[in-house]
Amino acid sequence: MEEIVPWFNDGLRFKCTGCGACCTGAPGYVFLSQEDLDRLSRHLGCSVLEFVKKYTRQVDSGYALLDRPGSYDCIFLEGKKCSVYDARPVQCRTFPWWIDQLREPKDWIAASERCEGINHPDAPLIPSLHIQEQCLTYLDNLLAQNFSL
Ligand code: SF4
Repeated sequence: MEEIVPWFNDGLRFKCTGCGACCTGAPGYVFLSQEDLDRLSRHLGCSVLEFVKKYTRQVDSGYALLDRPGSYDCIFLEGKKCSVYDARPVQCRTFPWWIDQLREPKDWIAASERCEGINHPDAPLIPSLHIQEQCLTYLDNLLAQNFSL
């Protein structure tokens, strides 16, 4: 079988500058899997149901984090920092290696207009294998986001 070589086979440049831009702005949802809910509620010392009630909204057939009232900031964004960083959702962990940003070079360029860390001059070259692993994790997580409690 012919091996499919991704267009980013030589790697892509990215480093998080801590600007917080990926945690705010419209439109956008941070969707959660059951695993995300378990991890985040454990991290905050509450039950899953309490977490869902306090920090999420139902969107179609899944749960998404709330925004801070009156803004598009994620409910867990404090200043420019994530207050639940160690337990953050898989969607956040896998940024910027999302399929919609990786299909073609033009998608990556468009993503770089929203995120200053993409193609940042000081950014290290991230190997293709790591990018593909992260993208697969992101895709698996998409499938795990449709559920109800
Ligand atoms: S959970 Fe944390 S990393 Fe994810 S969008 Fe909210 S503030 Fe950002």
